[in-house]
Amino acid sequence: MKKLLRVVGALLVLGAPAYWWLFVESHEPTGTFALELAELRRLASSLPGEKPLALHVEHVASFEFPSVAVMAGAGWSNTTLPVFSYQLVFPGRTLLIDTAMDEATAQGQHATFYDSAAWARLDAAMGTAERIVVTHEHFDHLGGVSTHPKAALLAGKLELTRAQLQDPSKQDPLRFPEAARAKLPPLADQPARALAPGVVSWSAPGHTPGSQLVFIQQADGEEFLLLGDVAWHRSNWEQVHERARLLTWFFLGEDREAVLRQLAAIKALSAQAPGLHVVPGHDGEVMTSLISHGFVHAQFRD
Ligand SMILES: [Zn+2]
Repeated sequence: MKKLLRVVGALLVLGAPAYWWLFVESHEPTGTFALELAELRRLASSLPGEKPLALHVEHVASFEFPSVAVMAGAGWSNTTLPVFSYQLVFPGRTLLIDTAMDEATAQGQHATFYDSAAWARLDAAMGTAERIVVTHEHFDHLGGVSTHPKAALLAGKLELTRAQLQDPSKQDPLRFPEAARAKLPPLADQPARALAPGVVSWSAPGHTPGSQLVFIQQADGEEFLLLGDVAWHRSNWEQVHERARLLTWFFLGEDREAVLRQLAAIKALSAQAPGLHVVPGHDGEVMTSLISHGFVHAQFRD
């Protein structure tokens, strides 16, 4: 009995710090990430042409994760991670940001919700969009286009960065098809670039090598910052608090320090621009609020 107690005691002594390290710890970042409002706005107005009129969204699928996966120390109750695709409507053309994934991929990854009608609208929108970009290379953002039967055709309007194709394992369980890769426009390298009038990508490697923020300034002056998965939920950037280390280190292979610096920079940017709509990658509450206040429109436009 004494022996058993000693073993249990040793496990507790060794286990408690390990539990804290893997599931609870998050810290103030060291260093800074450059994210400049003036430069975002300058680039947003650097291309001729009309800025976007409206931002539409499709909620294609959802996954359930323990809260601790989203936020270190947040406990083991389940939280929902909705998967979104965005359509920016310009006069006479559209631009898509993120492509979710098809139903087979969602089911293979144990999605708890899938909206086939939303996928059908996204599928049609990929066909009619002038351009498609992704916030990063994970399957729930790039998957919709990479598994598409017409991927090679769509590739002609898909703008990926070199970093987004640099490590194919980041696209697990999918791969960007080689035949489509040959059709991609030249890969982009600039850390910040104007994608279209009012639309700017800002490189933010950390969650993945190819992660980028997308800043949008609409014709009516409303501004959005799509975070991709730098933050899954609003609480990540508001509290500058990362996902559990077990996830970022073992499953995601994330540069945790880089992400923490980015979260702090996003918080600072939001303080500087109180009207900016900061849109985390998978936050249903934020999206519901944006839709109910009329800033984002539910469902894509034909
Ligand atoms: Zn994601």
